Amino acid sequence: MRPVLLDHVGRLTGDDLPAYVYDLPALREHVHAIRAALPERVELLYAAKANSDPRILRALAAHVDGFEVASGGELSHVRGLVPDAPLALGGPGKTPTELARALEAGVERLHVESEHELRLLTTLLGDRGADVLLRANLPVDVGRVALAMGGQPSPFGMDPAHLDGCLELIASEPRIRLRGLHLHLASGLTAQAQLALVDEVLTWAEGWARGRAADLAEVNVGGGMDVDYTHPHKVFDWPVFGAGLARILARHPRLTLRIEPGRSVTAYCGWYVTEVLDIKSSRGEAFAVLRGGTHHLRTPAAKQHDQPFEVIPDDVWPRPWDRPQARDEPVTLVGQLCTPKDVLARRVMVERLRVGDRVAFAMAGAYAWNISHHGFLMHPHPTFHHLDDAEESVTCGTYAHRMS
Ligand SMILES: *Cc1c(COP(=O)(O)O)cnc(C)c1O
Repeated sequence: MRPVLLDHVGRLTGDDLPAYVYDLPALREHVHAIRAALPERVELLYAAKANSDPRILRALAAHVDGFEVASGGELSHVRGLVPDAPLALGGPGKTPTELARALEAGVERLHVESEHELRLLTTLLGDRGADVLLRANLPVDVGRVALAMGGQPSPFGMDPAHLDGCLELIASEPRIRLRGLHLHLASGLTAQAQLALVDEVLTWAEGWARGRAADLAEVNVGGGMDVDYTHPHKVFDWPVFGAGLARILARHPRLTLRIEPGRSVTAYCGWYVTEVLDIKSSRGEAFAVLRGGTHHLRTPAAKQHDQPFEVIPDDVWPRPWDRPQARDEPVTLVGQLCTPKDVLARRVMVERLRVGDRVAFAMAGAYAWNISHHGFLMHPHPTFHHLDDAEESVTCGTYAHRMS
């Protein structure tokens, strides 16, 4: 944890815990570096579902080309916070209400998931137009990945054969403009694996369009850039990815490429800070019971990993009895829930962990609080804090409005 953040965490009182602390300067620096590593012809959207915290969205707005939203709720939320930012609405099972709201809001792109959805859209257009990408599920081998959205039977996108039905419909519907394809196939790919997939996908997409005389102006290859929770300092290699994209794009001179990462953008800026309530030994194994748990930070339960953490010692011990502690031994860090699944990190070696020490879980900025089952057991919610050193601009800055 960087010193300025540690200082900030040190000023949290016991009543503030558990606390989510977001490091906005670190986030700005990170997203700036991502943008700088990407070629000009690549547009960067942030997938809001990874973390839609208002101040995070505002901090990102100056560095991204827009936001990908995946529900009517996210659409209203993001539009309200960063009104000038271009939006793309994706996701399966869009309701007629959501589609109508997207048209009213004038979203820049609609990512169409099925022919049925496209037909639904035509009934809602009125005198408006819509710019769409058709989401395809290609028969490619995505390899061993954390999550596979494509390359196998899946509810996401369409088989290539079903794209043709959409093309026919679009040919007879001038209000719908086909801009290209959307292919978010996998999550958890390294830069090299992503590049290989992008290369394969673009070659396929251009061949597909050529065979049908379809205009392919852009391809959105989604997100899924790897975040390695076992190595918090080993971030996705954006410079290698950017350089590789430049090489690939040189072979597709007319194409605009779009990416929409979520996790790899915000995972690192978030910390879940709490304290040790109890430490005990059960049949020779040490357990530390923490205030809070996976109802606040579900990531380790959802992904079945050990959430990386740092111990922040607190030397004050006001009780007249011996302070429970674990020393130079593996400890399992659990929360307050009455279920054996409430594990944040399992059998991790610690030098020293005592009741009253604070524990700061790293990499809690994406798919953390917002995917957790907050209501379970009715414990109080965490408090939220933002370390900041800049007045955010609320508009989508440098790269805005290219998505037109
Ligand atoms: C979730 C999602 C993303 C973001 O994925 P990350 O793994 O967070 O980068 C991007 N596009 C679509 C369509 C998604 O569903």
